[in-house]
Amino acid sequence: MFLGFEANREIAGLTVDDVIAAARPEEPVLCLRPGLMEETARTFVSLFPGRVFYAVKCNPDVQVLAALAAGGVANFDVASLTEIETVRRLLPDARLAYMHPVKPRASIRAAYAQHGVRDFSLDSVEELAKIVTETGHAEDLGLFVRLQLPKGSAVYDLSGKFGAPVEQAVTLLRAARDAGQRVGLCFHVGSQCLDPSAYERAIEIAGEVIRLSGVTPDVLDVGGGFPVAYPDVAPPALWLYMASINRAFRRLNLANCELWCEPGRALVAAGTSLVVQVQHRRGQELFINDGVYGTLSDAGVPAFRFPVRLIRAGAEVASTETLPYAFFGPTCDSADRMEGPFWLPADMREGDWIEIGQLGAYGACLRTQFNGFDRIGRADVTDAPLLATAGHPNMGRVAPGQVQAAPRVASRPARRRAKLRAVA
Ligand SMILES: *Cc1c(COP(=O)(O)O)cnc(C)c1O
Repeated sequence: MFLGFEANREIAGLTVDDVIAAARPEEPVLCLRPGLMEETARTFVSLFPGRVFYAVKCNPDVQVLAALAAGGVANFDVASLTEIETVRRLLPDARLAYMHPVKPRASIRAAYAQHGVRDFSLDSVEELAKIVTETGHAEDLGLFVRLQLPKGSAVYDLSGKFGAPVEQAVTLLRAARDAGQRVGLCFHVGSQCLDPSAYERAIEIAGEVIRLSGVTPDVLDVGGGFPVAYPDVAPPALWLYMASINRAFRRLNLANCELWCEPGRALVAAGTSLVVQVQHRRGQELFINDGVYGTLSDAGVPAFRFPVRLIRAGAEVASTETLPYAFFGPTCDSADRMEGPFWLPADMREGDWIEIGQLGAYGACLRTQFNGFDRIGRADVTDAPLLATAGHPNMGRVAPGQVQAAPRVASRPARRRAKLRAVA
């Protein structure tokens, strides 16, 4: 059955368990926590010593965008015309930065002329020429040179595809200064970066480009990569990242240079749980109704281990003994397998539901229609996520190596719901 979120968003304080008990869904359900996303955004914005751009690719859902905007995110990192249009429809006054270093010409034209985009990234002379031409030699551009970084300590390495090496970045920064009014340097340390000093090293590379070029940028953009917790992965506290960035930035001693960042995962991961149903058990393999061609792409080849929790209908208490399970998704492809291990009660069986946490980032937006398994319900909930996030009051107090349970999130006041509804 389908559960439209319109159906329950008026009801205050719904938990994931309430939703499942009421709907007994045989299709997967996304449970969104707009209140938590808003709170996470507010905390991140207050901690980062500069301007925060949300990386839309991570989760472009309008309800997510609205929650982040309510939490004070006014800037968005976009990579396509569709992302630009999605944000613009919802937030006409938002500042958009088009940070894909390889853009279609028509998208550059539309971004500049129709959507007020002024900031563009590039990592080649060809792209610089493209931007200058397609904006009609505009004089109000922000031109961001994307730096190539050495492979770092991020779970998702992003160093291979984009970025100019130092010498080329020097040439590009000089050329950009000649072409545009404002110039910036940007980079991405890789997603789910577990080492705060990676940002320091990247900023030092930016410093080298600045020294060699003799050009002082107007903006230094440290990109995304801020991590969240997964089972057995307790990243360093967010404030350590901020301290590392701040320290390295100050060391560059740049006059009139703004600091920007582009977080995706850190703002939204905990904001959505997925609830799946077990359709069959074969030993320690559970056949569930969502998989790698759906919301659980990152549980496939990237082998992310998401936090899980049994939800069982009725009063029967589950076994206290746990076992490591692997999951199979619903498609007929044997690659639709998630190795985990996902630790769940020993007596898991057909009909049980499983809440899978931390799926607000790179989850729903990666769903495909493959094999016809594209139906999914959604609901708003206000209960705590399965793992603590940066937005929680305990932010900054989670020591490396320690996973903390999340404190309960208070249900959001009615007035905030009304505001979200108004923008949604
Ligand atoms: C994907 C991406 C981000 C967001 O990365 P996270 O690891 O989710 O924070 C930011 N900037 C750019 C250019 C990206 O491609």
